[in-house]
Amino acid sequence: MPLQTTIAEINLSVFNDNIKKIKSCVGNAKTVFVVKANAYGHGSIAMSHAAIKSGIDCLAVATVSEAVLLRENGIVAPILILFEHSIAEAELVVYYRLTPILTGTNYLERYNECSKRYNRKMSLYIKVDTGLSRMGVKPSGVLELAKKVLSYDFLEIEGISTHFASSDSDDEYAVEFTNSQITKLKEAHNILLENNIEVKNVQAANSGATLYYKDSHFNMVRFGLLAYGYAPNKLKNNIELKPIMSLKTKVLITKSVKKGETVSYGMTHKVENDTNIAVLPIGYSDGLSRLFSNKGQVKIKGKYYPIIGRVCMDQTIIEIGNDNINLEDEVLIFGDDDKLNAHTLAESVSSIPYEILSRVGERVYKVYI
Ligand SMILES: *Cc1c(COP(=O)(O)O)cnc(C)c1O
Repeated sequence: MPLQTTIAEINLSVFNDNIKKIKSCVGNAKTVFVVKANAYGHGSIAMSHAAIKSGIDCLAVATVSEAVLLRENGIVAPILILFEHSIAEAELVVYYRLTPILTGTNYLERYNECSKRYNRKMSLYIKVDTGLSRMGVKPSGVLELAKKVLSYDFLEIEGISTHFASSDSDDEYAVEFTNSQITKLKEAHNILLENNIEVKNVQAANSGATLYYKDSHFNMVRFGLLAYGYAPNKLKNNIELKPIMSLKTKVLITKSVKKGETVSYGMTHKVENDTNIAVLPIGYSDGLSRLFSNKGQVKIKGKYYPIIGRVCMDQTIIEIGNDNINLEDEVLIFGDDDKLNAHTLAESVSSIPYEILSRVGERVYKVYI
């Protein structure tokens, strides 16, 4: 048992069910599971091992150091680096057999030189900017970049990839925009084919597109949020995914406060009647945002209790009235609960479930069940 009372309990059998549901929705398409940002707060090493067991083909992270951590912890599956890295990291990318996604020609010389030294070919992706205006080359530049890559002896193109701007929304403009992004990627692929450049993989779909745009699947999908149990559009969880993480803690102390006393920093909450409060050992550095000050709630033995006063770095205070709360009682911060899941929490503070999950701190002990 962990000594810490604040834990993130992660249910790997629910995770496995989520992966099965996603796989049944994408048919034969290969799967890339995104484990950037410490697997959206779930712990990237454990989640990567679990994902491989569940039949995921490839992992994806944001930075080279995230990928190195996985390699050093026994992950041998392909790892995509979703974004550009620094030139100093090019050697690591080659050494650790990572798969970069290219926006330009800057690093080709260096990749080729390192690959030659290690005497092995390096596979990479070309990123096509179909409308997000972030990473990638415009469709009109894909052929030139591809030819440049192929002019190096030790480089080969594994695939092309793009990323959607609004695949989770069903408003008319977003749907039109997403469809136009799909069309542009197809066009880029066709230009390569017409020039006898074959690539193994065409990938576009993030979670939203995986669920809502079959046309976007091509032969590979690339998702994060879905597997952690949330549909990007709260109202359209059509394959019934379940959240895999529960953030839990226990009461540190309880005490009574008198009418007129104030609670926590800034005296933002004044007690209206004599009551009891409980202090929880979780704060904003653990992932309970300060935006939940005087706003959020937690659940103990089936009942919801309000957060009062400001959320601190390491502690949060709730009002428990005259209820009999013991120090051993489990306190749910968020999890698979109608009122306390990452979607409902996010809504109340104008955020998105991605942020609620990925903010779960390093200090929170992860327990995998
Ligand atoms: C984060 C990210 C994803 C995963 O997004 P989800 O909505 O969690 O599926 C996919 N592709 C890229 C490029 C990303 O940055």
